[in-house]
Amino acid sequence: MAAAEKLTPTGGSPIQFFDLKAQQASIRGALEERWTTILDHGRYIGGPEVDECEQKLCEFTGAADAVVVGSGTQALVMPLIALGYGHGDAVFIPGFTYNATANAVLLAGATPVLVDIDPATFNVDAADLERKIEKVKGSRNLRARAIMPVDLYGLPADYKAIQAVADTHNLRIVADAAQAFGGRQDGKWIGTLAEISATSFYPTKTLGGYGDGGAILVRDKEVGDLLRSIRWHGTGDNRKESIRVGINGRCDSIQCAVVSEKLGIFEDERQRRIASAKIYDERLEGKVEGQIGAAGDESAYGLYTVRVPERDAIRAALQEKGVPTAIYYDTPIHQMPAFEQFSPPGGLPECERASKEVLSLPMHPYLAEDQVHRVCDALLGALQR
Ligand SMILES: *Cc1c(COP(=O)(O)O)cnc(C)c1O
Repeated sequence: MAAAEKLTPTGGSPIQFFDLKAQQASIRGALEERWTTILDHGRYIGGPEVDECEQKLCEFTGAADAVVVGSGTQALVMPLIALGYGHGDAVFIPGFTYNATANAVLLAGATPVLVDIDPATFNVDAADLERKIEKVKGSRNLRARAIMPVDLYGLPADYKAIQAVADTHNLRIVADAAQAFGGRQDGKWIGTLAEISATSFYPTKTLGGYGDGGAILVRDKEVGDLLRSIRWHGTGDNRKESIRVGINGRCDSIQCAVVSEKLGIFEDERQRRIASAKIYDERLEGKVEGQIGAAGDESAYGLYTVRVPERDAIRAALQEKGVPTAIYYDTPIHQMPAFEQFSPPGGLPECERASKEVLSLPMHPYLAEDQVHRVCDALLGALQR
């Protein structure tokens, strides 16, 4: 941010990888009013902003219920608690995702079973999912319970295929949609594509707050009520007596106010991301491999990611031209020390290849058209060197 006033080496306005400053400027006045309201009513936890935010999330997505929580990670752990998983229960997750997906399964006491990804979508590969389920079914110490697909970079996982697999094997689905709020599949919003979907309000996510937060979107209102109990240490109306095991999973009134305000500008921001992605798509088509969804998929464009050869050299060349990039992720889950014990025999070839090739380009709602073109110019130039 300190370099924000300087011009880039190639001239033109500096390109940010994410840009929370421009966004803040557009809602600052409304937020200051909301702070004042919260300071006046003093209900920092469980204020009216919580209900408002949950209602707005339902209105936007069409979900039957929304439960706001303290983080995206809590939004993943709590449904697993609600479904009663624990020792010996297998939850199938892709091996190429943020570490939170694997941590959530382990924190709930269940066992992550890692599945390879489809190289086109970067999301869980339904054929490998089927193989891994059969393996668990043939094992003595694990019971196949649930699938936790991830909508990586904002692109919805293949929910039709995953639902078919879940139906065949009687598994539940808890979607990790942390990167994908605002994405759609066949006209349906992320948050309604699985029976339970978790999302994150981490500031740089598509629906980011100004701190930690998250939400669980559900099709069944009863599940929503169960999650509200788990959110407050498993209590009922009497907040002191636990009737089941729970945690502190609450989302502050302040974060709920930010997210409600952000929902008001969300469609505009979504369209801006789509416009930038369209330029990237057109200019990079046939030059670099990107993330390709199926017909009917609309990415939320949390990140715009391509595959490049000799990634370090390309990154350095882009940096020289004033183009910031990032890598999500350079280590697949099964190669992280905490999760190595869950590495399947033979590893996860597509997860490993992706981790060596992926490069994320600047993506946020406030990129100017000429900035996107400058990123493309720099990338195409670097590829030719
Ligand atoms: C960000 C993220 C999470 C966790 O969300 P937090 O709000 O940071 O706890 C989980 N899964 C994925 C795929 C994420 O990108």
